[in-house]
Amino acid sequence: MACMSYVVLARKYRPRSFAQMVGQEHVVRALANALAQQRLHHAYLFTGTRGIGKTTVSRILAKCLNCTGADGRGGITAEPCGVCSACVEIDEDRYIDYIELDAASNRGIDEARELIDRAAYKPGIGRFKVFMIDEAHQLTKDAFSALLKTLEEPPEYLKFVLATTDPEKMLPTVLSRCLQFNLRPMAPQVVAAHLEHILRSEAVAHDAAALRLLARAARGSMRDALSLADQAIAYGGGRFDEAGVRAMLGSVDGTHVAALVEAVAQRDGPALLRRVELLRGLGLSAEGTLESMALLLQHMAVEQAVPGALDAEDPDHEDPRRLAPLLPPDETQLLYSIVLQGRGELALMADEYAALTMVLLRMLAFAPAAEAAAPAASPPTAVPAAAAAQGDAASSSALPSSAPFGGHRAQRTAAAASPAAAPAAPAVCEPAPPRGAAASAPAAAQPPMPSAKAHAQPVLGEPPPWVEENPPDDAAAPPASAALRAASAPALAVPAAARPPDAPAALVPTALGGQWRALVERLAAAGAIAALVRELAWQAGLETVDDTAQPPCWQLRVERESLRTDALRDKLAAALQAELGHPVRLQLLAGAPGDSPARRDAAERAARQRRAEQTIRDDPLVQALMAQFKTARIVPGSIKPL
Ligand SMILES: [Zn+2]
Repeated sequence: MACMSYVVLARKYRPRSFAQMVGQEHVVRALANALAQQRLHHAYLFTGTRGIGKTTVSRILAKCLNCTGADGRGGITAEPCGVCSACVEIDEDRYIDYIELDAASNRGIDEARELIDRAAYKPGIGRFKVFMIDEAHQLTKDAFSALLKTLEEPPEYLKFVLATTDPEKMLPTVLSRCLQFNLRPMAPQVVAAHLEHILRSEAVAHDAAALRLLARAARGSMRDALSLADQAIAYGGGRFDEAGVRAMLGSVDGTHVAALVEAVAQRDGPALLRRVELLRGLGLSAEGTLESMALLLQHMAVEQAVPGALDAEDPDHEDPRRLAPLLPPDETQLLYSIVLQGRGELALMADEYAALTMVLLRMLAFAPAAEAAAPAASPPTAVPAAAAAQGDAASSSALPSSAPFGGHRAQRTAAAASPAAAPAAPAVCEPAPPRGAAASAPAAAQPPMPSAKAHAQPVLGEPPPWVEENPPDDAAAPPASAALRAASAPALAVPAAARPPDAPAALVPTALGGQWRALVERLAAAGAIAALVRELAWQAGLETVDDTAQPPCWQLRVERESLRTDALRDKLAAALQAELGHPVRLQLLAGAPGDSPARRDAAERAARQRRAEQTIRDDPLVQALMAQFKTARIVPGSIKPL
């Protein structure tokens, strides 16, 4: 880009006629018709955001009014010749009868008076004097007042063009004297198409994905698009490809963002955290991530509101079309709002990825009222022995300790043992309610559905945990209780008939219960008990110890009949003997124990849960969101203590 003759694209490709204007057809047609019919107004107002062509239209209009044609005999025209002195000099910004004033820097009464003074003189060479006041809303009230009379009754030869990004700030008396045209932000497709035309003219190699990215970043402004294109070409050393444009814009590959939304939809906290670490590792910006996420959610909302509205041919619409059925529309809106608010928070943290993590975790804490209100009608059900065995196999490997129960846990361990058998539904031995089954199927595998029903499921029954995995290479071994819980996890769930998971029978702690739990944890950590033997110990409450008997007799109360077998009892007794150094006779009693390791664990978890939920509820931002979205509720159990 060291070429001396290089002209920035925005200037080189500035439209010089109405025919070259892109994306403002409505304005161009109206102006061209008026000029063709010689219906001239004395003041024009062009409104619209920056960089969409207000000044360009003004210059073309000035040429139309002053063009003399190639032969010097032309009159007012909608198609300026481009070669007469008026056309050439206006293009080169040196035509004495075309005056541009930037009101942002010349806003006072003095500048206004000077302009009025110049208005008193007839045009030097042209048919018309054209005064263009850019950012006209910035003129002071005094300046406006001074101009008003001239604006009301201008001399024949004088035309005013006012331009503003903020017409609301213009005085009504001024607005009423102007013929107003609203220039619209250009659609990304329009920008991309024009950009492609220009790059082809410039013989710059380019790809469609890069064009789309840049066109979106331009936010409807062709001038911004061209100046970004200049930067991208310089950045890429003459190339204009997706990777380069992405890197320059700091934008984030759509696959990352789609994975994040998918993880939120499936309430998969660990997947969310892994993805953030991946983004950090790749050096992709947190800001860019949230920006892309906002765009994806916005596209999803469109698809949800009007299925089929997204362009099926546009590769950028694949993800939103696929993901739209995973979330109900109101949750999509909620997530969008969280993303927008989250963007403002990034700068407040030294570690932008930590801030990004907070924003994403906040998303997991919410779910629409329909879900939150749904009773925990389908508690986790007992896992078949096969899954339990797989859980055992997995727990002896490096599988991280995990939340104690739930379909996700069962799914993951099963998948670990046999990837081919990765289930589409959690391993349950009871027929799951149809809605539950649908929900557990991987969302991606489902065809898009018009309704959001598919989503409602992951939070029913037991919401999957947020943050549950220790890093596999965690140097510190997980505490015995964690190991125990992980090991016995798949089988921990009780049959639905026994009790709902959220309402465990009250713990009635006893001294023996405390000792028993410590002993069971020691045995489990040492690997002395496994599978169903461990499950028996975990579910049992030690009620009496008779040391006078020979050997000592311990009474264990166990609710589940399937665990009260002689074989399991004998294996547990053998393990106890090895640990204690003397034999123990075990007696298994029927009934629910008041104090078992399982019950203690559940009580502790519930207490941690309550604390975590309170922390989230106390978060002012969460409160603001709750107030804003009447349908938002914190899903009971969706928050896990970190
Ligand atoms: Zn001309």
